[in-house]
Amino acid sequence: MPTPAVSAARTILTRLHDVMASRNHAQAKLNTVVEVIGESLNSEVCSIYLLREGMLELFATRGLAQEAVHFTRMAIGEGLVGTIAQDSEMLNLAEATAHPDFSYRPETGEDKFHSFAGVPIVRRERAVGVLCVQHADPRRYEEVEIEALQTVAMVLSELIANAELVDDEEVASLSPQLTGPHRLQGLVLVKGLAAGAAVFHQPRITIEHVMAEDRDAELQRVYLAFDKMREQIDRMASQAEFGVGGEHEEVLETYKMFAYDEGWSRRIIEAIDSGLTAEAAIERVQQRTRMRMRQIDDPLLADRMHDLEDLSNRLLRIVSGQMGTAASMGLRGDSILIARNLGPAELLEYDKRRLKGVILEEGSLTAHVVIVARAMGIPVLGRVRSLRGMVREGDQLLLDGDQGSATIRPLPAMAEAFEARFAKTKERQAAYAALRDVEPFTRDGTRITVMMNAGLRDDMPNLALTGADGVGLFRTEFQFLVSATLPARERQTRLYRDVLDSAGGKPVVFRTIDIGGDKVLPYLRHNDGEQEENPAMGWRALRVALEREGLLKVQARAMLEAAAGRTLNVMFPMVAEPWEFEAARAVFEGQRLFLKGQKKQLPEVIRYGAMLEVPALAEQLDVLAPDLSFLSIGTNDLTQFLFAADRSHPKLAERYDWLSPAILRFLRRVQLTVAGYDIDVTVCGEMGGRRLEALALLGIGLRRLSITPAAVGPIKELVRKVDLAEITEVMNRWLSAPPPNLRAALTEWAQERGIDAD
Ligand code: PEP
Ligand code: MG
Repeated sequence: MPTPAVSAARTILTRLHDVMASRNHAQAKLNTVVEVIGESLNSEVCSIYLLREGMLELFATRGLAQEAVHFTRMAIGEGLVGTIAQDSEMLNLAEATAHPDFSYRPETGEDKFHSFAGVPIVRRERAVGVLCVQHADPRRYEEVEIEALQTVAMVLSELIANAELVDDEEVASLSPQLTGPHRLQGLVLVKGLAAGAAVFHQPRITIEHVMAEDRDAELQRVYLAFDKMREQIDRMASQAEFGVGGEHEEVLETYKMFAYDEGWSRRIIEAIDSGLTAEAAIERVQQRTRMRMRQIDDPLLADRMHDLEDLSNRLLRIVSGQMGTAASMGLRGDSILIARNLGPAELLEYDKRRLKGVILEEGSLTAHVVIVARAMGIPVLGRVRSLRGMVREGDQLLLDGDQGSATIRPLPAMAEAFEARFAKTKERQAAYAALRDVEPFTRDGTRITVMMNAGLRDDMPNLALTGADGVGLFRTEFQFLVSATLPARERQTRLYRDVLDSAGGKPVVFRTIDIGGDKVLPYLRHNDGEQEENPAMGWRALRVALEREGLLKVQARAMLEAAAGRTLNVMFPMVAEPWEFEAARAVFEGQRLFLKGQKKQLPEVIRYGAMLEVPALAEQLDVLAPDLSFLSIGTNDLTQFLFAADRSHPKLAERYDWLSPAILRFLRRVQLTVAGYDIDVTVCGEMGGRRLEALALLGIGLRRLSITPAAVGPIKELVRKVDLAEITEVMNRWLSAPPPNLRAALTEWAQERGIDAD
């Protein structure tokens, strides 16, 4: 049995279907539509207002004076009709004149009507008109009637679009929240400025057809889409595609709850039953939920609303077959990517020449997507609340990754001021670039080694551009992340050889594959499909490599062959115990002996090193040190483990400071432990690329940094201003008796010496 709402909407839609299919011109169709709705809802008046030249113009009416058609016009926000359009919200009033926004129009002859109900006609998320009914008796319209009106409004939006009754450009003036300039605040994840058009990583679908031709076919489509969506959500949960722990898991739980929510699917099916296409039905239900949620002022519910929007959008994409992300459709011009969150591989799919910036609702400084963006020189703003509700596809955006803000739809004066700052930044970058051939000596004459981090072939030209001393960390897993399938040995060899060739004799440190954590390979179920509670502390990096020896053997062969006749620097990630290092080295040595047996040319020198990322290793460094050629401190992971604070957790992104005495004391102890051995000690985490942090690292005895390419210039400039004896003295003093805020103290100290903090 159809519900009353379904049958009311169905009756109207069946009649409207004939109206729409007729060969009449648009005005005649509108005239018939108001008759059909008026009759069906037993309403004396039914009127349609549409946006024309910035005003809402009465386009058709039954019950009001016909002379008023194309004569009565209301401004946005004026009267009840203008208010509905402005707020994009329906009104249902027993006594229209009692509403504070009521505005009387004598030419319409509406004085005899008391009750009033109106709904916005929405196109591309904006109100382009209003559909309303009026009645002589003072009564509130019933929910089924309002529902029917809203469904009809969707049909009208299709009619309006097809007949080009409304100019899409004009629509912009209707919703003040989504028009005019607006500033969003966030957390700077990658510094820099960028301007471009907003592109949603997961684009919203525009619905072209609202009325169904074949109800059963639409039902079939939506059933299949639900199955597919549920499958996707379940897969996400098992693959941890969403990243790790905490908030992500909550999100996933909510997604699951919505995906399997009988109420949601039933309402969509009912909407199809009433005569809508699957797409329109999903959107219709979404509109209704949006409206209900708006009436409840609860931030927690608002968050859940975003989740449901996400899911609803996903269902729409499945049903309409538009599955790809914005990357698969290609960027058309300078673009700023908008997303809740992204994986590193997803970011790499975008055209680098056109992707100018990224704004995320989540994100943290050491999430790999942010590391990749930093390496690509793309500014990233994270932790921007309600981002996707405030920005629309195509909106002009100025991303200020210096001050942590973004301006949507800037006024020309704002864009000009931004442009001027942009030009200044470029000047500064040019000044850093000029340091390319300058060797970074401190004021008191110590040569500091400044290397760069890389992960792709495309990163290598930065070596010559920045004048870095080499590649201190080559993240080999990036090749795996950007491939659709496991890269074969030959492909790996080719990459490593190319990298060594383009380094032109400068050292390159290859780190063996570090997958797991937030670097998930869709084609490699490295954890046998089991969901991990804590992927960052789970089955990742060397732990995977030692278990899947085949993987490490292939990599070893590829590196040994690529470095034939040269020096090979190999580094193992996430070493927690000395035996893990020994086991990994044994795999390489096994391959070396094999190649030797084959009379293949071998590297002239092989240097093995470990990363210090797991605090436990620090307690056994004296045991491991004699076997190491070098040690590289991965402060991204190290600090997450020291503070027990997930590096990808958006809520913890700002909680702990790298300039904490806890971290600095720990690092100084490590430095002192290995000082007696002939070992290069490098810091290769993001910390080393930040000026104040780098200053502190120099002060506790570190002399080698491997950092993101964009930071090489700024760090070289810093080094040249530092007096090591002075910074060492002050850091010793502060680490013995820490000041209340070490960052503030160091900032002041640096400023007194003419050193900029950033
Ligand atoms: C680190 O952990 O500091 C590091 C450099 O490795 P990654 O960021 O790739 O985990
Ligand atoms: Mg790491």
